[in-house]
Amino acid sequence: MDWRDTPQQAEWRQGIRSFLKDELPAVFQSETLDFESMMTMRGNPALREGFESWRKALAKRGWVAPAWPTEYGGAGMTAVDQFILNHEFAEARAPGIGGLGVMMLGPTLIAHGTEEQKQQHIPRILDGTVNWCQGYSEPGSGSDLASLQTRAVRDGDDFVVNGQKIWTSGAHIADWCFALTRTDPDAPKHRGITYLLMDMKTPGITVRPLINLAGSHNFNEVFFEDVRVPVKNVIGEVNRGWYVGTTTLDFERSSIGNAVGQRQAVERNINWMREHKHEMAPTDYQASKHQWADRWIDVQVATQLAYRVISMQAAGLIPNSESSIAKLFNTTLSQSIAKSAIKMMGLAGVLTDKSAPMRGSAAVGYLASVPATIAGGTSEIQRNIIATRGLGLPRA
Ligand SMILES: Cc1cc2nc3c(=O)[nH]c(=O)nc-3n(C[C@H](O)[C@H](O)[C@H](O)COP(=O)(O)OP(=O)(O)OC[C@H]3O[C@@H](n4cnc5c(N)ncnc54)[C@H](O)[C@@H]3O)c2cc1C
Repeated sequence: MDWRDTPQQAEWRQGIRSFLKDELPAVFQSETLDFESMMTMRGNPALREGFESWRKALAKRGWVAPAWPTEYGGAGMTAVDQFILNHEFAEARAPGIGGLGVMMLGPTLIAHGTEEQKQQHIPRILDGTVNWCQGYSEPGSGSDLASLQTRAVRDGDDFVVNGQKIWTSGAHIADWCFALTRTDPDAPKHRGITYLLMDMKTPGITVRPLINLAGSHNFNEVFFEDVRVPVKNVIGEVNRGWYVGTTTLDFERSSIGNAVGQRQAVERNINWMREHKHEMAPTDYQASKHQWADRWIDVQVATQLAYRVISMQAAGLIPNSESSIAKLFNTTLSQSIAKSAIKMMGLAGVLTDKSAPMRGSAAVGYLASVPATIAGGTSEIQRNIIATRGLGLPRA
């Protein structure tokens, strides 16, 4: 396979690099800007300003939501152009903007929203004035999401919502929530669900923090007690919310950004090993060298998997088990990289303190790498997809 750019693609790539050189705020170019700092950006004025000026630079080109049609403020970009954009952004460590509003709600509104709903919400997703959270999972419904129980009962011009969501990322900083609710408990489970938009300031909504393994507050429990949601906030038809909630747009689905991030992490560790060789016992150095050789192979595989997915999209095919392979491989690789780093650093590798080797990134990286194997479909669910849709094995 020849993955080299065509002359047209090379020109597009070069244009993105020049844009990044001119427009990416310096605050994002620091090697030491870790995930933790990004998540706590609200307390960091330099990062907050950086995000704002980066958002404005992207918005001018329709690059906040490059996959969206131009009439809705996107760039209508092909999957391959998005791939090159995402590749270059990852190389430059440029952060994504727009969160779940861009990734999930926007495409859903574009496909199923009324004109009034689009006018109300789309501009505010793009200008960053409204943050969205996703109210899907419940304590008893995650992988089997269609079994969700949060009830919405029609009462005049409103639905009255009662129930609980869990693992709701960013609910503590979200202005609005898109949620799946059960409106017909007697219908087959996929058919009695309605997709609702809720203002998080509505009386009856309570958000409680959940602290993750790495000690960070990213997700939450959200409780609904007699929450009145206007009927005009239903997206699509009542009881057809399952099909509304599974809408996707022509997003690039290769995980190239992850593959690049993994390669950068391996390179940082190899540099650390070079610099600290004199402190390591020769046998430990030898063992680490072999570990990084293995991780380097893994990174090449992750990159090839990304190319495989995008080459399918470029050919008009819809990647299915191929995206699951890339997700499973990438999330497992993050854990192996963190484990290899911890082993290389010995006892100091388990410290999460910023004064530890590489600012504690090995141990923090390990803790932060676990949730990714669960979010967006667990590793077991990905294996089920690969086994059934990829290998054609029976479900049971
Ligand atoms: C970091 C993070 C962020 C998240 N953010 C959000 C969010 O913003 N909004 C939201 O709605 N949800 C969010 N989630 C929730 C996420 O979607 C669920 O955790 C996920 O779908 C798994 O569901 P569960 O936790 O209920 O586990 P379960 O589905 O109960 O699974 C428990 C275990 O059983 C296994 N299992 C389940 N079914 C099968 C099967 N059929 N075959 C084999 N094994 C199986 C699973 O792999 C897992 O190991 C987030 C989760 C994480 C980790």
